[in-house]
Amino acid sequence: MENFITEEMCQNCARCCRDFPFVEVSALEITKLEKYTGLTLLQFTNPKGKEAADGYFLQSLENGNCLFLGEKDGHASCTVYEVRPDICKAYPINEKHQAYCESVQNK
Ligand code: SF4
Ligand code: SF4
Repeated sequence: MENFITEEMCQNCARCCRDFPFVEVSALEITKLEKYTGLTLLQFTNPKGKEAADGYFLQSLENGNCLFLGEKDGHASCTVYEVRPDICKAYPINEKHQAYCESVQNK
């Protein structure tokens, strides 16, 4: 599926990083985030289930923002952009996501 989203569009929107996004992170992504942020696993993730093997999501703040969402030059900015999870790089990854994207941009 062609991804028509530009970096500028996302900077002006950032809805994917708000409203309690479910950002699943792999073991490799967790390691990269730990190195990049100096934080440990449980400081930035929530377990998906009772077992570690169930995997992890990134934490959201009380206001629903991903804990790594920041602001730079008046725009939303991912503070871990260089090591952001693959799902963040790829989104929107299917037609349902793309429809969501078109419906929420700049609202
Ligand atoms: S909804 Fe679309 S434009 Fe907005 S941040 Fe997500 S992918 Fe980018
Ligand atoms: S890691 Fe960055 S791109 Fe991904 S949801 Fe959080 S703020 Fe958004």
